[in-house]
Amino acid sequence: MSTPIKSIIIVGGGTAGWITAGTIAAYFKNDSSQSLSVTLIESPNIPIIGVGEGTWPTMRRTLKNMGISETDFFKECNASFKQGAKFAKWVTGEEDDFYYHPLVLPQGFLEGNLAPYWLEQNNNISFSAAVCSQEHLCEQHIAPKQIGTPEYAAVANYAYHLDAGKFSGFLTKHCVSQLGVKHILDDVTDINMSPTGDIKSLSTTNNGELEGDLFIDCTGFKSLLIGEKLGVPFIPKKDTLFIDTALAVQVPYENEDTPIASHTISTAQEAGWIWDIGLSSRRGVGHVFSSDYLSEDMAHKQLRDYLRPRVPDIDSYNIRKIPINSGHRAKFWEKNCVAVGLSAGFLEPLEASALVLVELSAKMIAEQMPTTREAMDIISKRFNTRFLYRWDRIIDFLKLHYVLSKRTDNQFWIDNRDPNTVPDSLLELLELWKYQTPWHHEFSQTEEVFPAASYQYVLYGMGFRTETTQRADHSSDRNFAKEKFNEVMKMTNSLLEGLPTNRELIEKIHSYGMQKI
Ligand SMILES: Cc1cc2nc3c(=O)[nH]c(=O)nc-3n(C[C@H](O)[C@H](O)[C@H](O)COP(=O)(O)OP(=O)(O)OC[C@H]3O[C@@H](n4cnc5c(N)ncnc54)[C@H](O)[C@@H]3O)c2cc1C
Repeated sequence: MSTPIKSIIIVGGGTAGWITAGTIAAYFKNDSSQSLSVTLIESPNIPIIGVGEGTWPTMRRTLKNMGISETDFFKECNASFKQGAKFAKWVTGEEDDFYYHPLVLPQGFLEGNLAPYWLEQNNNISFSAAVCSQEHLCEQHIAPKQIGTPEYAAVANYAYHLDAGKFSGFLTKHCVSQLGVKHILDDVTDINMSPTGDIKSLSTTNNGELEGDLFIDCTGFKSLLIGEKLGVPFIPKKDTLFIDTALAVQVPYENEDTPIASHTISTAQEAGWIWDIGLSSRRGVGHVFSSDYLSEDMAHKQLRDYLRPRVPDIDSYNIRKIPINSGHRAKFWEKNCVAVGLSAGFLEPLEASALVLVELSAKMIAEQMPTTREAMDIISKRFNTRFLYRWDRIIDFLKLHYVLSKRTDNQFWIDNRDPNTVPDSLLELLELWKYQTPWHHEFSQTEEVFPAASYQYVLYGMGFRTETTQRADHSSDRNFAKEKFNEVMKMTNSLLEGLPTNRELIEKIHSYGMQKI
């Protein structure tokens, strides 16, 4: 007799818990064959982390699949549009040092590679400004769509900035009222095992014992189920990514028509970097740094100095400290328990890669939900292989930003370039890219976290040079490139004329709403 999977229990009501609950419940909403119940239990005593305000474009699909109105999301989560990240002072530390990692692909990216032709030109236009319009839009705080563009549709690809505290509450309401997720506010006090080594049930303070077939650990850094109970080891990554502390603060705009940035701004500091995220109602700003290279007092000072020109009374603000333990679990799915969110691991938020891993995990769990316990071990093996690959790729990509820096103002930057701190996989790619530009062959998995385009934006944004002999003498390719560069110029002009500013569009969404799909 096989054992059917009928009851999913999620522990933790942060963003990870609710995205996972909503994704699974929406996926099975109209499927009578598997009749799954989804229960989410969260502690009324342990607060959610409440940071994590930058997403990926994947969040549009995630919210849409849950049946959420994008207008409601904008209004209730103080959301704004994100079209990429601007990296300031990462290469030399000078005032004019910046580059963009936009969210649109280079023009014609699925048909041909513009990078060799941009390298050939050697003129003053940055890589991202030459191959797509998004840097131009961001520099002028322009929105990625118009009020008439339907919900979730885009003129230029976009993600969100959102209020992390409000987002969990918003998802709770939707998942409970629209998707039938059962919500229990209680503390899990014990985890009870069956003789097979599976989790059998959870003991709680007020709700007795909760039995389930699949348990999803969304307990944040505590990692209560997979770490504390099942003992799956944590693999630290601090030797590669040195950041270990975050200081976070929320500040107001100077006045009500201050432009809302349409991108995350990441400004490198002496031993880390400052994120700056513009929501509709306020900014969320934080300094992540390595305490091995910078004292906490200096990190505070640098954050306050960064904010002071636009927030003169910054000294009166409370700044929250959050320790960061870079790394991830050796496995994410063990027995009948899967870890999603911070319980699975965390890496500095340089490319906002945490929530996208939550979304991808939830999607894979829903789509490949084992029908019986007997099928679970095969699926968990697949899950672990796929996500270990993804964590490795993210580590490579984050490290790339440090390896290409030329800063010498603190040993932090010099040590970051030491090959002993760089994964072999990245060293090999960097060697290859001396001679040929990043292309699809290097990144061939389905749902690759960072496509070759992302590597091109960072490499050439940071001044890396590739010998341009490859394919550059193909005249048809050269004509293709010329055509695409011209298209970008034309498209940029028409988008700059036709699109509202980020603030104008957000205000219109609050007043009138976007067109429903
Ligand atoms: C400084 C910083 C900046 C970040 N920036 C970004 C970003 O820009 N983009 C991005 O994608 N991500 C970012 N992240 C990551 C992001 O914040 C998290 O991935 C996201 O919030 C998910 O958190 P979580 O739900 O896993 O954990 P939490 O929010 O910590 O939730 C844990 C839940 O577990 C519950 N719980 C714990 N123990 C028990 C118990 N015994 N019984 C019952 N319930 C229990 C708690 O009550 C809570 O509900 C950032 C993280 C940090 C630290």
